[in-house]
Amino acid sequence: MTVKEKNVILWVIVPCYNEEKVLPETYGLFLDELTLLISKGKVSDESRILFVNDGSSDETWEIIKRLSAQDKHFIGISQSRNRGHQNAVLAGLMEAVDRTDITISIDCDGQDDISAMEEMVDKYYEGNEIVYGVRNKRETDSFFKRNTARFFYWFLNKMGAEVVYDHADYRLVSNRVLKEFENYKEVNLFLRGLFPLVGFNSTKVYYDRNERIAGESHYPLKKMMGLAFDGVTSLSVKPIQMITGIGAIVSLAGFIGIIWVIISSIAGTVVSGWPSTMCIVLFLGGVQLLSIGIIGQYVGKIYLETKQRPRYIISERTYENKGSSRTDKSGCNEKADNKE
Ligand code: UDP
Ligand code: MG
Repeated sequence: MTVKEKNVILWVIVPCYNEEKVLPETYGLFLDELTLLISKGKVSDESRILFVNDGSSDETWEIIKRLSAQDKHFIGISQSRNRGHQNAVLAGLMEAVDRTDITISIDCDGQDDISAMEEMVDKYYEGNEIVYGVRNKRETDSFFKRNTARFFYWFLNKMGAEVVYDHADYRLVSNRVLKEFENYKEVNLFLRGLFPLVGFNSTKVYYDRNERIAGESHYPLKKMMGLAFDGVTSLSVKPIQMITGIGAIVSLAGFIGIIWVIISSIAGTVVSGWPSTMCIVLFLGGVQLLSIGIIGQYVGKIYLETKQRPRYIISERTYENKGSSRTDKSGCNEKADNKE
């Protein structure tokens, strides 16, 4: 191993939302893994575990602050309110830009096998800039969760959003990728669909998914469907293409219908045509409404993108923020927040 490799700084990015039951169980596991990597000389002692408190309403931030005071390897940032898992991971990643060589994002609930990090780091040394953690099997998930998740990936891929199958947000990303990723300014975030777009050498690491150590999932069916929908409409224009296709077929059918109406009226059998007219009107009304609805989703997203709101706002840090230039770049200074 070369000297350069020993100096690789790793930040493990851990989003936490109301995890007071989970953190006391898992923080030790994260530290054990990091200590192992440091002792093997794979990452430097300057490596850190960054907890991102996503506006928790429980003791989570207090726990993070306590941990940061206990061990220099723990650091934390806190968002000014709950913004969702994707934005919490983003806040952590952007915090790490230019302070690290590599980052690994992982959930805090111990479901993703923490010991897979070593293999991820090894893959980085083999020349990969992104390493996707992929679940081997879903036996520990409930029947319902397993099948909704399966549907989720199927739906995304069918709709034209490229995602790595069974990869959630357990992922190693190099600083080089992160710097490029900074230029993806979208507000509707779907990280696992965006990183494949950044490119560079990538590979996968397989791991077994465990059960949540404590607490409950924050991803019920409704949120999962929301995420799938965000994934599709943020990454793909396939729904619009499909509407165009359906529109063409319906128009053709309508055209044939008009010819039929003209012929019938010439033949003098118009009065009895009321039911068929109603059917056509209702059918077209339905299709149009559906189409407008989906197009409306895109318009809504354009609206949000044009606002260019800050995507995250960090209200506190357990350490001194030296490179404040990044805070300015993302437009998230606390004064602006207070004004609202
Ligand atoms: N999380 C977050 N903000 C949220 C919801 C969740 O930061 O609004 C974090 C949560 O603390 C966990 C990770 O995102 O570390 C994944 O959430 P969860 O385990 O509830 O989802 P699941 O594993 O069931 O899909
Ligand atoms: Mg989980």
